[in-house]
Amino acid sequence: MKKIYLKHGKDESLRRFHPWIFSGAIHHTSAQPEEGEIVEIYTAEGEYIATGHFQIGSIMVRVLTFTHETIDQQFYERKLAIALDVRRSIGLAPSTRSATENSPCTTAFRLVHGEGDNLPGLVIDIYGKTAVMQAHSVGMHHDRQIIAAALQQVMAGSVENIYYKSETTLPYKAELGQENVFLLGGSTDDIAVENGLKFHVDWLHGQKTGFFVDQRENRRLLEQYSRGRNVLNMFCYTGGFSFYAMRGGARLVHSVDSSQKAIDLTNANVQLNFPDDPRHEAFAEDAFRFLDRMQTPYDLIILDPPAFAKHKDALRNALKGYTRLNRKAFEKIQPGGILFTFSCSQAVNKDQFRAAVFTAAAMAGRHVRILHQLHQPADHPVNIYHPEGEYLKGLVLYVE
Ligand code: SAH
Repeated sequence: MKKIYLKHGKDESLRRFHPWIFSGAIHHTSAQPEEGEIVEIYTAEGEYIATGHFQIGSIMVRVLTFTHETIDQQFYERKLAIALDVRRSIGLAPSTRSATENSPCTTAFRLVHGEGDNLPGLVIDIYGKTAVMQAHSVGMHHDRQIIAAALQQVMAGSVENIYYKSETTLPYKAELGQENVFLLGGSTDDIAVENGLKFHVDWLHGQKTGFFVDQRENRRLLEQYSRGRNVLNMFCYTGGFSFYAMRGGARLVHSVDSSQKAIDLTNANVQLNFPDDPRHEAFAEDAFRFLDRMQTPYDLIILDPPAFAKHKDALRNALKGYTRLNRKAFEKIQPGGILFTFSCSQAVNKDQFRAAVFTAAAMAGRHVRILHQLHQPADHPVNIYHPEGEYLKGLVLYVE
């Protein structure tokens, strides 16, 4: 196995279990590794410290283990078993301890959340009997077959389909010839359940793994605020927040997304839960245009835009974007209105997001109270040694 030697003193973050090795920390390699190859990491003094996937880029190694062990199917089985135990503890995955603990009202959850589950570069979402697997590193792409085999072992028959969806998540330059493909099964039964509400999952063509499971808890909170309100679900994608608002007793619910496909999915999902309910209407339109022209007196608005900053260097513009968007909502929302506002940009931290929303409120001249500070749910855990894994943040605001 090829060995990578670190520069003197560059092993410190690894000793604190941080899972990334940046290119600047590397002194030399025993031989040039291929993209995605498994490599061993040694300190300048020649002491073994970690094993991980090599990749060309600023993060050169994503660490899989700090113990001298072989990375094979059994390794992934051990990691997946722990990830599954975490979800059982949360009450999301069916428990082996007691059949009565099963939670049939939610069949969609994240089983593997990259660094948060000590598997950097790997995401696995479960939708009923289907697992959608996504590689964000070349190494995980190479290992996809043994991961799929490990997943079948660990899930012991409860997963009948494994869909591999990494066409857009891997670096293009690596020329991996990646394609989206079923590694197991091929079911088209695409209905999953979240807190008792049904939705279609378009894992073949949808964004990410097909659904944003990370808003589950926040949608449930929104339901409690919905009674009698006029709700605007901006950036609705598959309409998650909309059908919670409807179940919560909203007077009307308008869903907006610039993508016609997203609007079609939203309409299909509303139809699945509340057939022909006249309270709901969906609009395929740009958010800013819609906010400028809207006349409806909304008193509950959700803003859940895509990541405005994918990288640190885009941060300034991203913060301006959040301020501009939230300002428009503050200007239009009815007195006594509730605003659910989110950022899923990893590069924007909680304080920066809050400052952007603060600026927006001040510009609109509204009196605003913070009611809740929201974050990603427990099936998207943050590795304590990898604070970069904290990405979703939200505020629930009362606007006087
Ligand atoms: N709230 C959703 C997830 C939102 S993802 C959920 O709970 O599932 C972000 C969505 O914003 C995507 O569906 C994307 O199509 C949409 N979008 C991106 N830019 C937009 C714009 N300028 N105006 C309206 N929608 C936009």
